[in-house]
Amino acid sequence: MKTIAQIAAELQGYDPQALSAADVNAFLHRLVEPLTATETLPLFNALGRVLAEDVVSPISVPPHDNSAMDGYAFAGAQLMPGQPLTLRVVGTALAGKAWAGTVGPGECVKIMTGAIMPAGLDTVVPQEFTTAGAEGHITIAADVLKTGDNRRFKGEDLMQGSVALARGALLTPAALGLVASLGLPTVTVFRRLRVAYFSTGDEILSLGEPPREGAVYDSNRYTVFGLLTRLGVEVIDLGVVRDDPAQLEAAFRTAARRADAIITSGGVSVGEADHTRTMMKKLGDVAFWRIAMRPGRPMAVGRIAATEKNRAKSASSAYPSSAGSYQNDIEAPSGGAVLFGLPGNPVAVMVTFLAFVRPALLRMMGSTHTAPPLLRATSTEAMRKKSGRTEYQRGLVTTAADGTLHVRTTGNQGSGVLSSMVQANGLIVLHHGQGNVAVGDPVDVMVFDGVI
Ligand code: AMP
Ligand code: MG
Repeated sequence: MKTIAQIAAELQGYDPQALSAADVNAFLHRLVEPLTATETLPLFNALGRVLAEDVVSPISVPPHDNSAMDGYAFAGAQLMPGQPLTLRVVGTALAGKAWAGTVGPGECVKIMTGAIMPAGLDTVVPQEFTTAGAEGHITIAADVLKTGDNRRFKGEDLMQGSVALARGALLTPAALGLVASLGLPTVTVFRRLRVAYFSTGDEILSLGEPPREGAVYDSNRYTVFGLLTRLGVEVIDLGVVRDDPAQLEAAFRTAARRADAIITSGGVSVGEADHTRTMMKKLGDVAFWRIAMRPGRPMAVGRIAATEKNRAKSASSAYPSSAGSYQNDIEAPSGGAVLFGLPGNPVAVMVTFLAFVRPALLRMMGSTHTAPPLLRATSTEAMRKKSGRTEYQRGLVTTAADGTLHVRTTGNQGSGVLSSMVQANGLIVLHHGQGNVAVGDPVDVMVFDGVI
């Protein structure tokens, strides 16, 4: 397990005051490690979990060559260009009930979809390409098929002994079906990742509290809850924590004891009067960043110790002098929970979660597919963009009449404005080096859950 200082030393040009989005992900990739503990679960309980072992196919799927159509099976070598072919029907093969007889030249077997191909036959003519001939005969029209048509090969989906799903694969509905098709009732998956989260700030009201001047209701806990639940982790909600050192310390300690990762919102920007940053420093090995992005510039990452650190050592690092720097005079806690200290603004929380936290959590979950998929869409509006930072705009992707994807922004892009986030189905990602966008330019969109 590496300390913040060790990772910082590994990354070329690491500047905590001006990190690019790519640097952030590179850093987090080194900071977090996949879980090691596994469990074996019945398939119905494994949706959304990550495979901890390769699933090796104990059988071939399908187990035999079989027919892809309802029709007649025959030996394709008898087909002649430009000529119809008349065959005598000598039997019937049903799905689940094979036809065991032999089939000679000039003969065929009536066959249903999924039925085993009778020995020596390699081609199926669909019912609709045939006409009934004399008693017990069919005629295949000229040039409607070729040898091998409409036959599925044994092992076409999976061959016995091959890796059907690799360790690190997310168990999607399709993956569950694939495992089931192998006859396997259980899978070995990584244990569920535990993530604790809380909101900080004296101005943050819990739901149920009466409105108060200058105070806002806590929305971040709800978005974070939703994002984490969709990811399939175990959530530990630690509420709203007052800007009080004792309460903050208790919350961080509880979180570090119970969880693999901690997500906080608020209190990480430079010049914050509150105790959040100080407490993060005191209890862990934490870097404070300013990221070249919009929204979501300030962020804290590191590890929070589950148990007391050496008091004498941590005393000097409790009140850092230079904002935004990291202290490396303390030992990294052995173990502890990974900290993602997100900014307070509700949209910044979602953006930093989707861009950085989600890939890092997926890595911790054992997943090998951590990068969010990007779609390419045509911008229907011009966007101002400063080069040298990554900007995330709330976007609505639609399919145009010509079938291509179009995207526009969803109105007020203020970092506290959740209504434009609600209307969006993805984030338009204007990359670090990118400049202004003109109408008709292609842009990348990070689509939200459920869109694809
Ligand atoms: P901060 O990062 O603490 O400076 O917070 C930035 C802005 O986000 C302030 O306007 C806060 O009131 C707001 N904010 C912080 N935490 C929350 C929260 N949990 N829910 C809603 N808004 C918040
Ligand atoms: Mg604050």
